[in-house]
Amino acid sequence: MATQRFDAVVVGAGFAGLYMIHLLRGEGLSVKGLERAGGVGGTWYWNRYPGCRCDVESLDYSYQFSDPLQQEWVWTERYSAQPEILAYAEHVATRFELRPLIQFETRVTSAHYDEHTHRWTVATDKGDVFDTRFLIMATGCLSAANTPAFPGLRDFKGRTFHTGLWPQNGVDFTGRRVGIIGTGSSAIQSIPLIAAQAADLTVFQRTANFSVPARNRPSDPAAVARVKSNYPDYRRRARQQAAAFGPDNPRGLDSVLAATPAQRQRRFEEYWQLGGFMFLGAFGDLMLNEAANAYAADFVRSKIREMVKDPQTAELLSPKGIIGCKRLCADTHYYETYNRANVHLVDVSQHPVERFTTRGLVAGGVEYTFDDVVFATGFDAMTGSLLRMDIRGKNGVSLNEKWAAGPLTYLGLMIAGFPNLFTMTGPGSPSVLANMVTGVEQHAEYIHDVITWLRKENANAVEARIDAERDWVQTVNVRSQLTLYPRCNSWYLGANVPGKPRVFMPYIGFPDYTAKLDDVRAEHFAGFELQR
Ligand SMILES: Cc1cc2nc3c(=O)[nH]c(=O)nc-3n(C[C@H](O)[C@H](O)[C@H](O)COP(=O)(O)OP(=O)(O)OC[C@H]3O[C@@H](n4cnc5c(N)ncnc54)[C@H](O)[C@@H]3O)c2cc1C
Repeated sequence: MATQRFDAVVVGAGFAGLYMIHLLRGEGLSVKGLERAGGVGGTWYWNRYPGCRCDVESLDYSYQFSDPLQQEWVWTERYSAQPEILAYAEHVATRFELRPLIQFETRVTSAHYDEHTHRWTVATDKGDVFDTRFLIMATGCLSAANTPAFPGLRDFKGRTFHTGLWPQNGVDFTGRRVGIIGTGSSAIQSIPLIAAQAADLTVFQRTANFSVPARNRPSDPAAVARVKSNYPDYRRRARQQAAAFGPDNPRGLDSVLAATPAQRQRRFEEYWQLGGFMFLGAFGDLMLNEAANAYAADFVRSKIREMVKDPQTAELLSPKGIIGCKRLCADTHYYETYNRANVHLVDVSQHPVERFTTRGLVAGGVEYTFDDVVFATGFDAMTGSLLRMDIRGKNGVSLNEKWAAGPLTYLGLMIAGFPNLFTMTGPGSPSVLANMVTGVEQHAEYIHDVITWLRKENANAVEARIDAERDWVQTVNVRSQLTLYPRCNSWYLGANVPGKPRVFMPYIGFPDYTAKLDDVRAEHFAGFELQR
């Protein structure tokens, strides 16, 4: 196939890719979008499992770059479900006429940089070759599905599904014996609905996760009208929050350690009733101090004991560690589902799933037989989608070599040795610890600004300086050490993927990150180097 030449190639057509394409086209650049899926939406295209919905409220979890768009779109629920979020992404693609620029069902397999031409050669699984000056990876933090390599999996005669690669037309579990492996966020959302449909559901749990009630409900027209009456101001205040959402949410700033037992109980109960992530805002020190955190964790464990009738099951479902250290889950009747006669919990913490057989799987020496097995085993987070491509920068150095001991970036946006390559919500940016739609908009606008600067300066390439990258990696690391986040085996650290280096990947604190980006811009993009 003949090589096609563009100013910019954007890989991925989720929220990040869509906005990036829109901005670069607006700058007059020739842009090509490449997307593995058959349509736009990214996360919301792939994750069609029952119960899939956002856990940041929809009024926050949406674009803010266009006021007409945010005014006209109507979210029907507090936390919208996957079909509605996908419909929104499709609406955005139509409204801003983005689809003609995107080639679907095309996976990028390699990207190699040429130091002489300052350009990237991008190859795909369809045999296309693109020659581009700028290469923007909008490939997603949670888009590389992780399925453990269970021995014998191919022998299993039943159906298997991964929550992150769910069939487009859904799955009917009526009358079937179903097994589900994993108890993270996707499992917690899907288990109540699969249990209601299947004849029998067995949940294999390695580690219990904390979940709080989402308290999802239809949108409140009065609350929506209030936000929409001054949406830009609401968004501005949201960006000042640690995770870039919920500026009007109540927050306890005081220490739980200073509260009496009765005050503690009252406050936790009040925040439990509010629903969702707000629970961790009950006091100011819950994520800073292990002793403070233990009070919140104890409260949730007491709730689990109240909700789950069988004491042994309640005990197994009660997480041991720090609440919020792994991503907190928000559910609708998750714990109560274990009171159903057709739901069984199998603890595989000591005796993991050993292998599959033709009829099911073996764990702890026992064979369980199933018609269907669901893998709710999550993602190779943050780095997976990048490292699954053969990306080579200066001197032919591959990204896999460069990141062998963990990801290294400057601001989560660029990688030293890989000029003109940008990563959206890359490791080292707030990414998965903040409202990600706000995060991708911020990155799209910043990448746009860096490219505009380069063009104004008549330069050929821009690259992160190695010293700036080293300092930034150190900053991200030191910052995480001030919190409780690195103290558990979470996917933020890569702990869910065997052999993955343990490095805390996200930058904690959206407002400080924004301030840093502003400072860098004010200092003529300090830390970035132009090449002529
Ligand atoms: C179930 C679920 C619920 C979530 N809920 C929330 C929430 O409530 N709030 C929140 O802030 N975040 C949430 N997230 C995180 C979510 O991923 C982001 O909010 C957001 O959708 C990311 O958009 P993106 O465009 O960066 O990446 P994605 O939506 O992941 O899109 C990346 C795209 O890149 C494509 N791609 C990857 N590699 C290649 C390749 N080599 N070639 C071609 N195409 C490629 C993928 O097919 C994908 O379509 C959730 C994630 C999941 C999985």
